[in-house]
Amino acid sequence: MKIGVSSGSLEVLKRRVVKKDSPTTLYLLVGNKCLNNCAFCIQARNMRKESFMLSRISWPPIELKELEILLSEFNPFKRICLQVTNHIGWKNNITEVINNLKKHNIPISISAPIENLEDVNFLFQKGAERINISIDAAEKELYEKIKEKNWEEKINLIKEASKNFPEKITTHIIVGLGEKENKLVELIRDLSNWRVRIALFAFTPLPGTPLENIPQPSYQKYRKIQIITYLLQNHLIDFKDLKFKDDDLILTKTIIEKTYPYFNEIFKTSGCPECNRPYYNESPRITPYNYPRDLTLKEINEIKLLLENGARVI
Ligand code: SF4
Repeated sequence: MKIGVSSGSLEVLKRRVVKKDSPTTLYLLVGNKCLNNCAFCIQARNMRKESFMLSRISWPPIELKELEILLSEFNPFKRICLQVTNHIGWKNNITEVINNLKKHNIPISISAPIENLEDVNFLFQKGAERINISIDAAEKELYEKIKEKNWEEKINLIKEASKNFPEKITTHIIVGLGEKENKLVELIRDLSNWRVRIALFAFTPLPGTPLENIPQPSYQKYRKIQIITYLLQNHLIDFKDLKFKDDDLILTKTIIEKTYPYFNEIFKTSGCPECNRPYYNESPRITPYNYPRDLTLKEINEIKLLLENGARVI
């Protein structure tokens, strides 16, 4: 059986070198062409071209046995993440992969085409340590248009899964799909109350997808959402302390000052523990939306300046 390995993870395995922005998680792709039809995804059902890409990352396929050998020779990873597309036989395939990887004793996160609580139970029974149930689009109308699925069913599933498996559920949210900030922040509030970990992604337009012409979100918007996500996820503010103008979230000076002690954490990649997804949303040549490593003092000061210039004093 072949399995996709993210190019960054494969580089670590083959070169046996860990840099400060190398992946701390081993990212694997199980299955490629997907039966789902998410409008932002290169593996979607309606995409004609076969591709080894997911977001802007390539996932060259290798034999599972070869991966086993590479891992037994050099394994600096603190987590394994299995991204599973919706393909016929995915449950059998994931079972085979987990059975082969379990012996390495690294926590496994699984992001799979989960439809119900039975699927969640199935994956935990097989050996998952955490499960991701992706929302991606943070608003009902947008979700149903972009993902072609039912919003209430997905939100209820996440809520129920988080009750049955407290602190073990993650979700992915993409910022910049056209969502209203007030709706996005309400969703982040609910997920935080349910103790669901949020992995933020910056929307990345991919050539050939229906959303290829939508630009990436501005850094100012993305930093604002990172801040509010961090504060709500860590229960450092109340939703009622937040201010909105029309649909937009206003980042006040008081909120910005509250974030200063956490500045080195807020802008790093969020989601499962030890997940740093280097350069998943942007080229290494530009400022990262999600920092896969500690920030430098210069980077921290740049973000402070960006925020202070955009903050409203209330
Ligand atoms: S947050 Fe990271 S480790 Fe968790 S499912 Fe998403 S990509 Fe995988």
